[in-house]
Amino acid sequence: MADATDTRPLAAPRARDTPGPTAAPQQIDGLLVVDFDNRRARYDCYRTGCPQRREGPVHDGGIPEFVRTIKTEHLARYHGEQR
Ligand SMILES: [Zn+2]
Repeated sequence: MADATDTRPLAAPRARDTPGPTAAPQQIDGLLVVDFDNRRARYDCYRTGCPQRREGPVHDGGIPEFVRTIKTEHLARYHGEQR
């Protein structure tokens, strides 16, 4: 009776409930990255043929304005889009 090992099987994690990557969303054309630990932000553009794949980083007080405007500005400046 001194067996300390619990031989009952552990409940297996229900991995099937985890949503996996499905079809790649077409609307993702860039990624805004805000690093709160280091207080900086940047924007990575994923569009094919983009001449400026990375914007920034900007720091501290420049972050809110950057977050608000960079995608629109980038698309207008490098991809000829006005939104
Ligand atoms: Zn771009």
